[in-house]
Amino acid sequence: MVASANLGYPRIGARREFKRALEAHWKGEIDADALEALGAELRQQNWAAQVKAGLTRIPSNDFSFYDHVLDMTALLGAVPPRFAGRQGLDALFAMARGTTHAPAMEMTKWFDTNYHYIVPELTPDLDLHLAHDLPVQRFAEAKAQGIHTRPVLLGPVTWLALGKSKTEGFDPLSLLPQVVAVYAELLSRLKAAGADWVQIDEPILVRDLTEPEAAALQSAYAALAEAGPHILLATYFGALGDNTDLACGLPVAGLHVDLVRAPAQLDAVLDRVGERTLSLGLIDGRNIWRSDLSAALTLATRAVERLGPDRVEVAPSCSLLHVPVDLALESGLDEEQASWLAFARQKLDEVAALAAAAAGGRAAAAEAFDRADAAIASRRASPRIHDASVKARVARVADADLRRASPYAERAARQQARLGLPVFPTTTIGSFPQTPDIRQARAAYRRGEMDDADYNGFLQDRTRDCIRRQEALGLDVLVHGEFERNDMVEYFGERLAGFFFTRNGWVQSYGSRCVKPPVIFGDVSRPDAMTVDWARFAAAQTDRPMKGMLTGPVTILQWSFVRDDQPRAQTCRQIALAIRDEVVDLEQAGLPIIQIDEAALREGLPLRQAERAAYLDWAVACFRLASSPVSDETQIHTHMCYSEFNDIMPAIAAMDADVISIETSRSDMELLSAFHDFAYPNQIGPGVWDIHSPRVPDEASMVALLQAAAALIPPERLWVNPDCGLKTRGWPEVERSLTHLVAAAKQLRDSV
Ligand code: GLN
Ligand code: ZN
Repeated sequence: MVASANLGYPRIGARREFKRALEAHWKGEIDADALEALGAELRQQNWAAQVKAGLTRIPSNDFSFYDHVLDMTALLGAVPPRFAGRQGLDALFAMARGTTHAPAMEMTKWFDTNYHYIVPELTPDLDLHLAHDLPVQRFAEAKAQGIHTRPVLLGPVTWLALGKSKTEGFDPLSLLPQVVAVYAELLSRLKAAGADWVQIDEPILVRDLTEPEAAALQSAYAALAEAGPHILLATYFGALGDNTDLACGLPVAGLHVDLVRAPAQLDAVLDRVGERTLSLGLIDGRNIWRSDLSAALTLATRAVERLGPDRVEVAPSCSLLHVPVDLALESGLDEEQASWLAFARQKLDEVAALAAAAAGGRAAAAEAFDRADAAIASRRASPRIHDASVKARVARVADADLRRASPYAERAARQQARLGLPVFPTTTIGSFPQTPDIRQARAAYRRGEMDDADYNGFLQDRTRDCIRRQEALGLDVLVHGEFERNDMVEYFGERLAGFFFTRNGWVQSYGSRCVKPPVIFGDVSRPDAMTVDWARFAAAQTDRPMKGMLTGPVTILQWSFVRDDQPRAQTCRQIALAIRDEVVDLEQAGLPIIQIDEAALREGLPLRQAERAAYLDWAVACFRLASSPVSDETQIHTHMCYSEFNDIMPAIAAMDADVISIETSRSDMELLSAFHDFAYPNQIGPGVWDIHSPRVPDEASMVALLQAAAALIPPERLWVNPDCGLKTRGWPEVERSLTHLVAAAKQLRDSV
């Protein structure tokens, strides 16, 4: 028997029931018991779906009321003192969301996904102990439903590695012995409860490990090997690479490897896996395409021939947390499109079919294989996917297409001659408050309750009003406000060929927040101009310079589900050409400044150092392809949200935007030192207002930030702007904050 396994199932519910319940609970509309009851119901549904699909290794403890990293933090008793005295869900939500007296714990992205985890705060005085044994309770809960599960635990070394030292000079790994002692206690309780296997996730094994991290893995698993049930050590999001020997040498009973991201590692792992059980991550847990089961079967068969059927498991590459729940709820897709896709529920069937065929040959799951083959063949050939003219255009891209006409210094002089801006020019990042009436109008328009003319008239009013307000505030470079946009990626995806949208394809981003990424399914092109009418309308309302606003190719790629039948770089080039066309049109429409946001450029960086240069190469080339067709007199801006710039400065400089705005206010301009140290040559707008907070910063605080910036960057190259777009803020705070911002810029001007 080849086991069919799952590593984790989405928690949000097929219709985002969980999101709504969480938010209702936070508003005080339902109590903790009601929320707990819904959690139990969802777990039961998820387990039942996996039983129904025929899976033989079903996870428990993959459910979480907020985040699995936070759950482990709570289990270990690693609760920061400012949350002391709180219990259970109350403590969990206080840590995740903060209280009036205690700021929330930090949140950051889980590896290279769009899922965010709550960062453990590590200090030497933590009193680590088994604070609760929920994993044991959840195992018992499933058992009571007649389901024997394999509990999932985040591994001790990954938990520590993802944490942040909150004490100067303190090494979090020094907590390892205490952490491992708690895990040992937990494992022994799981065994006592009847668990024969546990899945322990150590995705850190696909990153570049430090020597102390490698040593920590060795000592942790030496201590845990006999502490409880058999351990399946799960690795995912990439290849083990130079950690293969380490992973295959740990004293665990089983190993899971990601063969979607890294199919080539199978042979090396087979050579080293010894007597262990090997779990093959063959179904893509990070994307929504139907699997090429025949190709996967080739790999599975190879493993079965080497290890025998009893030591092989077939599984998704990683937890299914990162894909939407159920394709069956997608009513808007046609049959052909739907046949190309598999969401979490459908992926379970793929796992089961593949496991059956790995043991009994293709005939054991002939129907599933036939359907998969047909879907793959149709994707390969469909004229809806393949556009020869797009492919030909990408092939024709030449080096000259990636370059502006003149070097920055010459462009800057020409742009200044055209724009005549003061020193410390003021601007904003693009969006202005998306007030409830705007959201309501959009919803009404989408429901067909508002016609084109009314909706457009409404948006024109808002845009005009926004421009009036910016003029009154005294801003130098204006924006139109982005009222017509729901989301900075979706807006473009809806206007580009090669994209489609799901109705219900939600994926958890953090806590109750879900995102619904567009699907890039085919060759991308731009049938018509996407933003030119609005830009032209806005420019006509004022004498001041107006910025045209676009989302960059890397960001559109990064925040979508991307096709898996060609390299990401190729898809990105297609998007870049579409944006390039828009840039040309905006310039022709008379816009003197065009901003191309690349909010997600940094987050697309591969987990492994060795792969970063290649990524940055094509990412930067795509930005340049999109931004370079304009004349010297047209000023190109870009914007990046919070990013560490130190290790990517050469790439940032190579983008060669005339102006870059970045998020810096919360770091006290610390992030700007990367630009100083690199001697970044172009203009920079370091954010001086933290727009994530409702606080209105005063003029003095912005002056102080600007002075700090001016100590690092020559004043004649500094812009004055907020950290990011203002769509989540309200007008009163925006107007007060921008009044201070404009005044702060004037103060700086007077002092130079
Ligand atoms: N122009 C966008 C806005 O202002 C940029 C948003 C972002 O970088 N996340 O909303
Ligand atoms: Zn931003």
